[in-house]
Amino acid sequence: MLPFETIEEATIFLGRNLTVAETLWFNYSAKKSDYCLYCHNILFLFLIFSVVPVPLVFVEMMRSLGFDKYKIQPKVSLSLSDMFRCYKDVMRMFVLVVGPLQLVSYPSIKMIGIRTGLPLPSAWEILAQLGVYFMIEDYTNYWIHRFLHGKWGYEKIHRVHHEFTAPIGFAAPYAHWAEVLILGIPSFLGPAIVPGHIITFWLWIALRQIEAIETHSGYDFPWTPTRYIPFYGGADYHDYHHYVGGQSQSNFASVFTYCDYIYGTDKGYRYHKKVLRKLKEESRTNGAQNGGSYYVPTQDLKSE
Ligand SMILES: [Zn+2]
Ligand SMILES: [Zn+2]
Repeated sequence: MLPFETIEEATIFLGRNLTVAETLWFNYSAKKSDYCLYCHNILFLFLIFSVVPVPLVFVEMMRSLGFDKYKIQPKVSLSLSDMFRCYKDVMRMFVLVVGPLQLVSYPSIKMIGIRTGLPLPSAWEILAQLGVYFMIEDYTNYWIHRFLHGKWGYEKIHRVHHEFTAPIGFAAPYAHWAEVLILGIPSFLGPAIVPGHIITFWLWIALRQIEAIETHSGYDFPWTPTRYIPFYGGADYHDYHHYVGGQSQSNFASVFTYCDYIYGTDKGYRYHKKVLRKLKEESRTNGAQNGGSYYVPTQDLKSE
């Protein structure tokens, strides 16, 4: 809730006229409580989990119309009912864990100092903070994920997320309830260290989920804009982690590739890509027609 009754009061407070974005924000948020604004996250998450993976369902259903060549594991096909079952499980988790967690975590948001007022942050400030949030999330997630691939962590918790050996968009948040809670920590850590405006926080939560859906899409599209982000892992990178499954010692990072490179946990993936490249070259030399990317049985390399 803003401490101003009118735009004139806000103008006096800022010592300048409000920008268009600030006027819109004033009109939208002036009479809403901070708790209400924070709870918008529930609606955004519900919409993102429900809507963003839908085009991928159509792609999966229409693979024969030219999308097949982008499928990372083309031998795997999922029916509409398989995908709907995944969505139903994710929604159950959303109602039982994610929603309630959002409702009760409001005091922590207040404590770390997420602000809702004016002035609004500049685009540069938002971009810089989002960049920091992604870096912190990626690093923390890397170590938690690596821990979850230990014997106890995998069998008790992380095994659920790996039920999909060929992931789909809806499977991005498909996990044990304990994993949903534990992986909330890396997402929260960035805003806790570098607190910003609630709009930046909304954007962060939304972009992180959209990134996870893309990473689990099962398709490596050449036109995806994320290809231009330096050190970005993407769908092919994380798909390999699911393909190997519980034994995987490769590709633990959630967003970027540098942690796996630094700590030597991308060896299996790099070896796998080398084998694929060689096979493709051989098939080209033999004049065989290859429909696109494909996976071959290969053993993940132990990193240590
Ligand atoms: Zn894993
Ligand atoms: Zn995954």
